[in-house]
Amino acid sequence: MAIRTIITGDDPVLNKACHPVTKFDGKLADLLDDMRETLTQANGVGLAAPQVGILRRVVLVVNGEGEMLELVNPEILAQKGEQDGLEGCLSVPGMWGYVKRPEWVRVKAQDRNGNWFETEGTGLTARCFCHELAHLDGHLYTELCEKLYTSEELDQMMEEQEADR
Ligand SMILES: [Zn+2]
Repeated sequence: MAIRTIITGDDPVLNKACHPVTKFDGKLADLLDDMRETLTQANGVGLAAPQVGILRRVVLVVNGEGEMLELVNPEILAQKGEQDGLEGCLSVPGMWGYVKRPEWVRVKAQDRNGNWFETEGTGLTARCFCHELAHLDGHLYTELCEKLYTSEELDQMMEEQEADR
């Protein structure tokens, strides 16, 4: 296993649509193992293959139980509700923005052996599924934000909200 470099900034690889995975081979297993190690080291809750420069439909999502799910060729089957909350991205370090996402999603995907399974998530996990799947079509959450905040600006906002109470 190896830690891969997370691509940040304006790299065009982050804006490309990814190809479906057709071979469930050792190369895919290596990619997934490396992505797991990379995500763990980055202390994130999700990672998509294009973020490590691989244009394949592969994502990792840490669910509400703290399990790191491997999703190959994932698709959203159903969604319900709406939530508005702060979102960040390992490819956009140091910035956050408010994004509306469904409150609940159901997803189908293949595992590293090609077996289809279904899973679902609410709250942060639903947000994470939507965020990571969007990466596979070359979309970043920043396209959905009116404004991006630095951590200093966020801290200041929180303090002001506290003061208003
Ligand atoms: Zn992201």
